[in-house]
Amino acid sequence: MSDRDRIGGLVPKVTVVFKELGCGFKCPFCDVWANDASDAPPDLTELSDAVQTLLEGQKQQDVLECVLSGPEPLASPVFFKVLAAARRLGYANIRLNTNGIRLADRALTQQLARCGIRGVDIPVYGSNAKLHDRMTGMAGSFILLMKAIDNLRNCPGIRIEVVHTVILKQNLRDLSKLCARTKDLGLPKLEIWMPFARPSANELSRLRDICPSLTDVGKALRRIPSEFYRFLGMPLCLCPPQVPLGVSLRGFQYARKCQGCTMRAACVGVRESYLLLYGDKELRPFR
Ligand code: SF4
Repeated sequence: MSDRDRIGGLVPKVTVVFKELGCGFKCPFCDVWANDASDAPPDLTELSDAVQTLLEGQKQQDVLECVLSGPEPLASPVFFKVLAAARRLGYANIRLNTNGIRLADRALTQQLARCGIRGVDIPVYGSNAKLHDRMTGMAGSFILLMKAIDNLRNCPGIRIEVVHTVILKQNLRDLSKLCARTKDLGLPKLEIWMPFARPSANELSRLRDICPSLTDVGKALRRIPSEFYRFLGMPLCLCPPQVPLGVSLRGFQYARKCQGCTMRAACVGVRESYLLLYGDKELRPFR
């Protein structure tokens, strides 16, 4: 599957979210653990609608790809049952979105390949163990991730399809080293995302502590060769985007300042939560 097919979700796909369990990380941008005030054990019988639909054997004919996503799909006791159902339904590509640490277990990685996982999407938040572990809130997570990468690269039938990061104030200065590290490891181009939040006062206040300005991100990106990374969702006036022209991204919108910009049709705009936080003063409409 080519980059162009994948970016922007141009391949018809279904995303199956396993919502039962958190992933064990405490990343600063994630609202899953931040909003979970309960100490009660999770209800493992509660399945998302998409999981239920898959288990019932339903599939839209033109949907080619099935993405098993989470917080952490591999934490679910029904994961392999769902994977078997996806395989029976004949998806051309079954992809796993995971925090990766369980794949430090080589036997599990091999089992996933045997059971039909073809692509894996993993995150990396820093070029070194100290920073990555600080971002995930889990000591040792970087070492486990490196083992997982090694296992995935040595397991026939399965490939690392996406490596992504979320760029925060905490790791912005590390970005060029992180891109170089992923390149040295022979991984796919680093896919970079900005953090976002629901438009509530609490969530925006959390976002304010972690979200760098697009201007600072644009400056950092200009110092990195474009073949090292892919940035989804950068306004065209602050940095050339890494998305195919004309692809719209969910949660993005145009600011009032974008009215009359001659590049608007080729631009994804700006995330709604970013505009609520910082406004549109950084934007430089093309005339
Ligand atoms: S002004 Fe708005 S539409 Fe124009 S490039 Fe910037 S973000 Fe995109």
